Amino acid sequence: MRNAASGILINGEWVEPEATYEVRNPARPTEVVGEFARAGPEHVDAAYRAARDALAGWRRTPAIQRGAILHRAAQLLAERTEDLATAFTREEGKTIAETRVEVARGAQILRYYAGETAQPRGEVHPSGFSGRFLYSVREPLGVVCLITPWNFPVAIPLWKITPALAYGNTVVWKPATITPGCAVGVAEALRDAGVPGGVLNLVTGPASAIGGSLTDHEEVDGISFTGSLEIGRQIQLRAVERGVKVQLELGGKNPVVVLPDADLDQAVEQTVRGAMMSTGQKCTATSRAILVGDGAERFVPRLLERVRALRVGDPLRADVDVGPLASAEQLETVLGYLDVAREEGHELAVGGRRLEEEGEGYFVEPTVYLDVDPASRIGREEIFGPVLGVLRAASLEEALEIANSVEFGLSASIFTRDIREAFQFIDAVEAGVVHVNSETAGAEPQVPFGGVKASSSHSREQGKAAAEFYTRLKTVYLDMPPAEEPGRPPR
Ligand code: NAP
Repeated sequence: MRNAASGILINGEWVEPEATYEVRNPARPTEVVGEFARAGPEHVDAAYRAARDALAGWRRTPAIQRGAILHRAAQLLAERTEDLATAFTREEGKTIAETRVEVARGAQILRYYAGETAQPRGEVHPSGFSGRFLYSVREPLGVVCLITPWNFPVAIPLWKITPALAYGNTVVWKPATITPGCAVGVAEALRDAGVPGGVLNLVTGPASAIGGSLTDHEEVDGISFTGSLEIGRQIQLRAVERGVKVQLELGGKNPVVVLPDADLDQAVEQTVRGAMMSTGQKCTATSRAILVGDGAERFVPRLLERVRALRVGDPLRADVDVGPLASAEQLETVLGYLDVAREEGHELAVGGRRLEEEGEGYFVEPTVYLDVDPASRIGREEIFGPVLGVLRAASLEEALEIANSVEFGLSASIFTRDIREAFQFIDAVEAGVVHVNSETAGAEPQVPFGGVKASSSHSREQGKAAAEFYTRLKTVYLDMPPAEEPGRPPR
C-alpha cells in the first residue's frame, strides 16, 4: 500500500504535495501511521478538469469493458486484503476481523457492479402511433463529487465509486481526513486494474481547506455525500440553489424492539453486535433497545453479562472485540454524551467511562443505560459510540411510537417469533432498512440502502437503485421516415 505523502491522484498520476499531514493510530496516538497530502483548491480544480476531460472517452467505453476493469479491481483488492485491512485497523481503529470483512465487502461491491454493466440500460415502451419506436435509455450523469466518512472507509467509497464508474461517470473523491490510507489503497487498486487517467481523481486532506471548492465547482454534475446531518444539509442547500443533483446518506438512532416471545440468546447477541461492533460507530448501529412487556426482566441481565464480557483493546489483536474510537474528536463527543447521561440521571448499568488502562488510546468502555427516557438527549440523539440505551414499552404499539419518535429513520430491528407482529412492525416502523431477528447493522450490496426522515435525502444507494442517482433518463421517440416511392427522386 502506498504511504509516504500521497493522496492526490489527478489524471492517473500521484501528485507531489506541497503540504502534508500526519495520521495517527487511535489505539496509540503517539504512533504516526502515515503522512498524506493536504490538498488545496488548486488540486480540486485540476481534479475536476481531469474528470471533465476524461468523461467523453469513459462514457463511450463499452459498458462491459468498464465492467471488466471493475472485476480486475475486485481481484486486486482481494489479493491485497491483508495489507489493506492492517493499515485500515491502524488508521481507523476497527478490529482486524472487521476490517478484513470490510475489504471483502469492497471486492463484492466491485464484482456486483461489474456484473451490472451487462444489464439492460433502458426500456422499450409501446407507442400509441404505428411505426414509432419509443424507448428510454439511462445515460451517465457526468462528473460526480463523492464525499465519504471515516467509519466505513473502504465499503462506502466503493459503493459510490463503483456504480459511478460502471454507469460511465467520472469521479472526484474526497475521503474523510482521518482515513486517507484506506482511500489511497482503494484508488490504487482501481488504477492498477486499468481505470484510465482522469476517470477517478482523489483529493485528501481537511474539508476546511477544500470543502467549498469541491461542492461549489462549476464542473460538478452531482454530489453524493455520506456523513453528518449538519454538513449534509449545508451541502444539499447549496446544491439545490445551483440546480446540482445531490444525494445524502446521514445519521441514525436505530432501535431494536424485543418482544416477550423473542429468542433471548439471539436477541441479546444481535443487540450487542449492533450496538458495540465498530465501537458503535456505524450509521446503522443499535442505540436503543426497546423491551416490551415482561421479557425485559430476563433480557437485561443477559445483555449486561454479554456487554461485560466484551474485550476492549488493541484492534490488531485477534482476541479483541471492541477497538478505540476513531479520533480524539470522537472521543470528546462520546465522553460529552456520558456527561449528558449523568446530568439526565439515567441509570448506568455497565461502562460509562474512558478506559484509562489502555493509555492514551481513544478507548471508552462499552456502556449501557437502563430506563432511558425516550424524550431525553440520550434517547433521541445519535451518539456514534459504544453506548446503548434500554427503554421500556407496555406493548408493540407503544414500542413503535417510541421507535418513531426521533428525527432519524435509517434502520430498525424486531426480535419475535410472531409473524403477525413482525409484519405490523415492518409496516409501521419509520426506517429505510428493517431487520427481523437480526441486528440493525448489516447491508447486502445487491439491495437498496438508505433511510427516511432526516437519515437521507430520500434517495437510495447500492443495488440497482444506485442507477437512479448516477444516471439520467432520456426518452426517445423514433419515427420512421416515409418509405421511398418508386420513381420519386431521393430528397
Ligand atoms: P462529517 O463530519 O459530516 O464528514 C463526512 C465527510 O464530509 C468527510 O469527508 C468530511 O471531511 C466532509 N466534510 C466536512 N465538512 C465539509 C464541507 N463543509 N464540505 C464538504 N465536505 C465536508 O461526518 P463524519 O463525522 O465523518 O461521519 C459520521 C456521520 O456519518 C454520522 O452521522 C453517521 O451516522 C453518518 N454516516 C451515515 C451513513 C449512511 O449511509 N447513512 C454511513 C456512514 C456514516 P473531513 O473529514 O475533512 O471533515
